[in-house]
Amino acid sequence: MKRCVMVSGGQDSRILHQMLLKDYPDIVSVNIRKPNGMDVFDADVVIDHMAHGGSTYKGTLYTVEQKLIPNYDEIWVASNKTPEEDWFKNHAEAPVRGELLSKYPGKFKTPYQEMYKWEVLQIAIDNKIDLTGTYSCVRRPKEQKHCRTCWFCKERELAYTKLGLEVYWE
Ligand SMILES: [Zn+2]
Repeated sequence: MKRCVMVSGGQDSRILHQMLLKDYPDIVSVNIRKPNGMDVFDADVVIDHMAHGGSTYKGTLYTVEQKLIPNYDEIWVASNKTPEEDWFKNHAEAPVRGELLSKYPGKFKTPYQEMYKWEVLQIAIDNKIDLTGTYSCVRRPKEQKHCRTCWFCKERELAYTKLGLEVYWE
């Protein structure tokens, strides 16, 4: 069984990767390098984003279909549940998640799909997973620090707030 876990540099994929290593020490971490170069991140395998369909998102799906689907039996993804608040539901940056799941039955494993980010963060706390260096922002490269206003920064902030913790901004 060839398994990989998609890692983005964010918290959820760090947590999923660390949890999976307990059961599957040989699982391969894969990072798709974003076309704007913002998302360079350490992983066992780094693959280049393939342009397709006129958007970064469509290109990512295409890259997964071309590079991961043929090469791995199981692809683990840390997608979680979008917060219920209107601001998150209606935001232009709100991520679309799970589009390939029904197209490739059994291929993807998404254990956090029905969990909110703060519930995933709780897993990190319970398991003492180090989140140092994780980065959520989609608007600014890491060296410029979190913008704290984009969808992903706000989701990060909300997760810590829900748990009654001070927000960890890298
Ligand atoms: Zn941001």
